[in-house]
Amino acid sequence: MTIFSKIVSGEIPCNKVLENEDFLAFHDINPKAPIHILIIPKREYKNFQEVDPKIMADMTIFIHQVAKLLGLDEGGYRLITNNGEDGGQEVMHLHFHLLGGAKLSWSHLSDSDSKNFI
Ligand code: 5GP
Repeated sequence: MTIFSKIVSGEIPCNKVLENEDFLAFHDINPKAPIHILIIPKREYKNFQEVDPKIMADMTIFIHQVAKLLGLDEGGYRLITNNGEDGGQEVMHLHFHLLGGAKLSWSHLSDSDSKNFI
């Protein structure tokens, strides 16, 4: 069971943003932008490469809802999924990082720069 499945089951607490039957959005524990949300399917897929493409349509709708709820839909945001070891994925449960609340540069994602945005 992944750490994110433990969040889904309630075994590990999270700061929830939005939830429906299939998806959950919650604040990242180590934010790299003023707003940093993780969006996951409740069902475990290892990553984007292994997800059933059919669920991506509903997941897209859910991501749109989260962005709107947080007021990011008009000003913009960044959506990232790290895929596999070389992609920098640490938690092997598909998740999208939704980052916003500032004008983001590419470089701010490095550990040294990210704190400047918080
Ligand atoms: P990855 O590197 O796999 O794309 O991203 C994993 C993300 O999960 C990281 O940004 C990390 O801060 C976040 N994370 C890891 N454990 C927890 C946790 O227990 N709670 C929350 N809210 N975020 C977590």
